[in-house]
Amino acid sequence: NLLVNPDRLVLDLFGVGGEALPAVAVDDVIVEKIRSSPFDEQTMRLVFDLNASTGYRISPWPEGGLEVEFNYLLADLGLEIADGLAGLWLEISAEPEFRLVYLEDPDRLVIDLQNTTLIGSARNIPVEHDRIARLRASQHLPSTTRIVLDLLKPVAPLALQAEDSRFMLPLFAGSAAEAEAFLAELEPAEEQKAVEPVKKAAAGTGELAGLVIAVDPGHGGSDPGAIGHDGTFEKDIALAVSKFLGELLQKAGAQVVYTREKDVYVSIFERPELAIAAQADIYVSVHTNSHIKRGTARGTETLYRAGDQISQLLARSVQDELVKAITLIDRRIWPRDDLAVFNGSTIPAILVEVGFLDHPEEEILLKAEGFQRAAAEGIFHGVVRFFDEIKEAGGLGQ
Ligand SMILES: [Zn+2]
Repeated sequence: NLLVNPDRLVLDLFGVGGEALPAVAVDDVIVEKIRSSPFDEQTMRLVFDLNASTGYRISPWPEGGLEVEFNYLLADLGLEIADGLAGLWLEISAEPEFRLVYLEDPDRLVIDLQNTTLIGSARNIPVEHDRIARLRASQHLPSTTRIVLDLLKPVAPLALQAEDSRFMLPLFAGSAAEAEAFLAELEPAEEQKAVEPVKKAAAGTGELAGLVIAVDPGHGGSDPGAIGHDGTFEKDIALAVSKFLGELLQKAGAQVVYTREKDVYVSIFERPELAIAAQADIYVSVHTNSHIKRGTARGTETLYRAGDQISQLLARSVQDELVKAITLIDRRIWPRDDLAVFNGSTIPAILVEVGFLDHPEEEILLKAEGFQRAAAEGIFHGVVRFFDEIKEAGGLGQ
């Protein structure tokens, strides 16, 4: 039990007898002292005298004993603005894990610091900035400090940086997509280093033997793609489904070329180049969807290169088999002439939007490994069916 006045954590250990142990003076920012005393014959009581009321986690050790972990402490925070660029600084006892969620009506960016306690009262600070109106912070849950930026125009957080005794979260003046384009232009050399060299698996003897398939997990690195209600990143779902898909394709004898195999940024112009370099027969991009009115749309759709019948046939097969496998709403196949991953090559190309990550129910599905595997199987069956149909029609005609 966490008690107040004074702040202390009381742990009753049932089935533990014996004498009180000497008190331990800790004198840390959180814990002042640990005391123990027999509460009754069966119960040993531990009292942690605290300097601040704070969340905690108790984990039993398998070999006996237990561990009590207290939250990180967020002593202070604020916005630093220089030349119109804003950065959120955090004076915190360790690098926090955080989740980002954009909310609308009114527009705001929510940053949840996990396992963190805010020292002092809630903050509500007006900001003089053309994009940010206000900075708020409060203890949302015992385990979570919530920071909210009330936005006038979009900002996109970049990578967290350690600075002397604090952490800085730079805020790009623009949307996540604009931040991506900016980063791509700023550091083309550095970003390219992150790209894995093209890999080809040994050719097998299965039903896809002799074929090269480019698998393109959407987004990655500094570009999270869509962000779910619960903070799930599209880039992570896309990579997971792509890897399951790649395994199935390889088992069927295909050579698989990934445009990325890790959480790295690869530009949308470079992705089709990788497929061309590997002489891929088809190009399958894996994404999850989002709607401009968050959470209002659901279902599966497959985009394909406009005016390209082979791509359309591939989209038809994959959409049918994917919907059969995961049973989300069958939205449509959709010709597109405006996507760089299609326009960068003439390889038959599709982009699968498995489901809507901004729909809370579909986010739960998309996060589940079983669902990711089912989606990969659906796409795989669509690819196999496509090549069967092509074979019947007399080949790809290349
Ligand atoms: Zn996407």
